[in-house]
Amino acid sequence: MVFWRVAVQQGGFSFLSVPHPAEIKGAPNLSSAIVPTYARVEIAFEKGEGCWLTTVDGDRYLDFGAGIAVASLGHSHPHLVDALMTQGGKLWHTSNLFQMPGGEALARRLTDATFADLVFFTNSGAEANEAAIKMARKWQSVEGHPERYRIITFEGAFHGRTLATIAAGGQAKYLEGFGPKVDGFDQLPLGDLDAVKAAVTPQTGAILIEPIQGEGGIRVVPPAFLRGLREICDEHGLLLILDEIQTGVGRSGRFSAHELAGVTPDIMTLAKGLGGGFPLGACLATADAAKGLTTGTHGTTFGGNPLAMAIGNAVLDIVLAPGFVERVARLGLVLRQKLAELRDHHPGIIEEIRGEGLIVGLKVKVTPAAFAAAARAEKLLTIPAGDNVVRVLPPLIISEEELTEGMRRLDRACEALEGDIAAAQKGAAQ
Ligand code: PLP
Repeated sequence: MVFWRVAVQQGGFSFLSVPHPAEIKGAPNLSSAIVPTYARVEIAFEKGEGCWLTTVDGDRYLDFGAGIAVASLGHSHPHLVDALMTQGGKLWHTSNLFQMPGGEALARRLTDATFADLVFFTNSGAEANEAAIKMARKWQSVEGHPERYRIITFEGAFHGRTLATIAAGGQAKYLEGFGPKVDGFDQLPLGDLDAVKAAVTPQTGAILIEPIQGEGGIRVVPPAFLRGLREICDEHGLLLILDEIQTGVGRSGRFSAHELAGVTPDIMTLAKGLGGGFPLGACLATADAAKGLTTGTHGTTFGGNPLAMAIGNAVLDIVLAPGFVERVARLGLVLRQKLAELRDHHPGIIEEIRGEGLIVGLKVKVTPAAFAAAARAEKLLTIPAGDNVVRVLPPLIISEEELTEGMRRLDRACEALEGDIAAAQKGAAQ
């Protein structure tokens, strides 16, 4: 039996036909006792190696999604597996009541690699953004301005699914039915500096933005706009918070995407690639911006857990090695060039290529879900996003040969979609 489920996409709703989890071939134990908040496709993976994933049925897929920009070092990277096994055999958890040598090391490496002086560890991106929002409000409070709690955010943003971060993201589809929207977020069009200047009030305390909108459809924020935001923050005593949860840790071809624009934030959030697949987030800040978060003002049980810290350190061993992010930047150019050729071959399917490094979007002329399904039929994984975009987010360790192989599969997927469109047109004409 097939049942209908509503899948959220592109700011609207589409109906997808998906089998009940209990019916998925080869995966009889997948539980249907899970709250059905996700529109899962009918594939269950069993193992992964590098850029490849193998299903329970033995089918191999090339992974151009990296678990939504998380498995940045691919699957089962030997250095990460070694870190997990070594730490797993020693110590998992002690709580934040005690010193955390692994966390001290990771924090120091993150501050050495960025603008920041201090780090607060979390378990997810939304929690890192919650820490950033609280930090900014508290900073204004200790500066003598508790009334400056409001934060400017931008249309198309995605900052997570907690009550505060859905309010920050401002998307009606995520707010609907969850009671009063958390107060304190003023959303503006992306790219309009005059609108930002006009929106700053005596209650405004910070500006929060993704340097490249991920879920919103790989919308690269113009560098001049980011620089303008920095100036507005400096002029009005606001903090600039950059959400680099999807763009950070090397994905943009720099350690942080804001380096591309030459802008320095006061606060930055990371997650996704920082743990390479292990749940780990972080809120990084200057010592000044963090000065309100004194002992007892904020906390989390699991943040900074020894296992997460060991894996985060192992990720940085690789991402911070000389030449790593430069290689991502170079591969990103190769990828975008190849995708531009693909667009030229399939102008009826692909409209536009955008992105930086290995965070790339294809604006498509079919639905992103249809495009991703056609790619999956060619055993290639991509990730739908807003603005009719399909994301290409391969592991950062991908080889040029694998990129080329991915292009072959995308080419065939486009051909199949063209065939579907031609057949539909023929049917309509008859
Ligand atoms: N911010 C951005 C830019 C994201 O892309 C995401 C997740 O997709 C989040 C925040 C939320 O992260 P998490 O799902 O780990 O809470």
